[in-house]
Amino acid sequence: MAEKIIMMASQRPAPPAVPAILEAPTGLLSDQLARPLHDLRISVTDRCNFRCVYCMPKAVFDSDYQYLPHTSLLSFEEITRLAQTFIAHGVEKIRLTGGEPLLRKNIEKLVGMLAELKTVHGKPLDLTLTTNASLLARKAQSLKDAGLQRITVSLDALDNATFQKMNDVDFSVDDVLHGIDVAHQVGLGPVKINMVVKAGMNDQEILPMARHFRNTPYILRFIEYMDVGASNGWKMDEVIPSAEVVSRIHAEMPLEPLSANYTGETAARWRYADGAGEIGLISSVSHAFCGDCTRARLSTEGKLYTCLFATSGHDLRALLRDGRSDAEISTVLAQLWRARGDRYSELRTNNTDGLPRSANKVEMSYIGG
Ligand code: SF4
Repeated sequence: MAEKIIMMASQRPAPPAVPAILEAPTGLLSDQLARPLHDLRISVTDRCNFRCVYCMPKAVFDSDYQYLPHTSLLSFEEITRLAQTFIAHGVEKIRLTGGEPLLRKNIEKLVGMLAELKTVHGKPLDLTLTTNASLLARKAQSLKDAGLQRITVSLDALDNATFQKMNDVDFSVDDVLHGIDVAHQVGLGPVKINMVVKAGMNDQEILPMARHFRNTPYILRFIEYMDVGASNGWKMDEVIPSAEVVSRIHAEMPLEPLSANYTGETAARWRYADGAGEIGLISSVSHAFCGDCTRARLSTEGKLYTCLFATSGHDLRALLRDGRSDAEISTVLAQLWRARGDRYSELRTNNTDGLPRSANKVEMSYIGG
């Protein structure tokens, strides 16, 4: 198991330099690989009540683990102000993540503030949230009332013992399934279900999960186990490639490929040939999708990360708290995104054996999946 992690907060980079000449946003900002800034993932807490082995393994995120002090977190006003800056550069979709975002006190208030924002085309934002559903049944209605549009739920197994082996806490599958149904009933659909598949741990649940979510309004997505962060002890031979997931399901429940809903969609879509619904495959290891990656990530304490596998971020909170103007922060963001050339998964996929395992990759629980 990986050694103890040093707290990311203590590694504060110098704030990005503010150029002398400021530029007005145009609603379209592309990086080195001509990928437009379109999606923003905002981590609203580094805390979670689960200890999923592929994200926050208990051996590392134990009772001594130092979480960020509340004063370090971006306030709702700071998050909303930064979100407006990203939107002015073309962001149309915001996903709230964590840790577990529903643990952030008064999260509905933040949802309400973000739901008022409009894209550069005057349309409502596509405002979504990813949760482990531990609090979902209780909060679904108030999130919907606040303006949340859709929700994604993480569920790695139907069998309780396997589920608890994956999330390493004593939480029941029935409570997650109940949360999913309530979210659907209040109109937070189509609810997507994310299952991370780890060989030898829960891959025997692929078929039971597929059978369970067929003929339901829910979209089950299978995620290849990834070498995110530096603490999950990732090994290539614990990855079940998506092609194998498809063939296992297809053997019993024939599948047909579907085209993407939009450029940059992370999941490859498949439908059951008999019309019983749709599934998705998120294949960061076997079929990297960096070429269309339009996602920026904002950490819990206001650092911009341009890739899930980044080793360092850019401190936007410092600019906010140094009293920098929106025009200054916007210009800095433009420069940072334009300089972006990240394509970690592509490099890893093409070079599995040679790619160095960086011990400094940011933890997924700090910037959201
Ligand atoms: S590895 Fe980085 S660049 Fe590639 S798809 Fe993931 S976040 Fe985007």
